[in-house]
Amino acid sequence: MPNDPLERLVSLSREFGREDRAWAILGEGNTSTRIDDGRFYVKASGSRLGEATREDFTEVDLHRALEYVARPSLTDEEVQAALDSIKLDPAAKRPSVETFVHAVCLEEGDCRWVGHGHPESVLSILCSQAGAQPYSEHIFPDAIVVCGRSFAVVPYVDPGFKLAHAVRDALRTFKKAHGKAPKIIFLENHGPFLLGQSDLDVLNTMKMLDKWSKILLANRHFGGANYLSPEESDRIEGRLDEAYRRKRLLEAEK
Ligand SMILES: [Zn+2]
Repeated sequence: MPNDPLERLVSLSREFGREDRAWAILGEGNTSTRIDDGRFYVKASGSRLGEATREDFTEVDLHRALEYVARPSLTDEEVQAALDSIKLDPAAKRPSVETFVHAVCLEEGDCRWVGHGHPESVLSILCSQAGAQPYSEHIFPDAIVVCGRSFAVVPYVDPGFKLAHAVRDALRTFKKAHGKAPKIIFLENHGPFLLGQSDLDVLNTMKMLDKWSKILLANRHFGGANYLSPEESDRIEGRLDEAYRRKRLLEAEK
């Protein structure tokens, strides 16, 4: 894998947008990575993940983005103006409308990389009557190792500015309850946000979440999922050999 963060973001985005994966089609989904304390790259509005090039990402000012998020509300026009004003290169493309959500995840989600898609498998569940409830307990150990033991959930809210507020509130509530940030935020009727320490971390989490979702869907043919008990899942989360395996998975790129 290349070392340049923008090059890595392009590679991650192309993986996310691969048509055979059905995680994001057309202009769906967006990705970001933190460059340093005050800057991050995020996908430009309307760009396609699967065909992304360096020009499809815009460098934005993280702190100015967070200043906008701190306001109680913005009109649609103010949101468009805000998106243009946080660009560090005025000639760059307008960043995605979800840029404010990415800023919140990068600042409060204890992560350096963020991936967001609308995967067919995950939306089959998140858009159902059950919402994110089928993910509230686990069905096999690898999902605990790769995706984490628990998740933040956000009911449907208008994408963009309002969503950034809802994600910020959900992250704070989660961190208060669990002492750390989640790796996945499930947005009901929308899609997952994945929070990672590296590009590979985000990709691995999405691969496992996709597999987990497909298994949950298939389980319906055989009487529904047979859930692990909370105690069994806690045990997997705390096992030393699983912690070692988790570390090795993230070193796979070296
Ligand atoms: Zn989305």
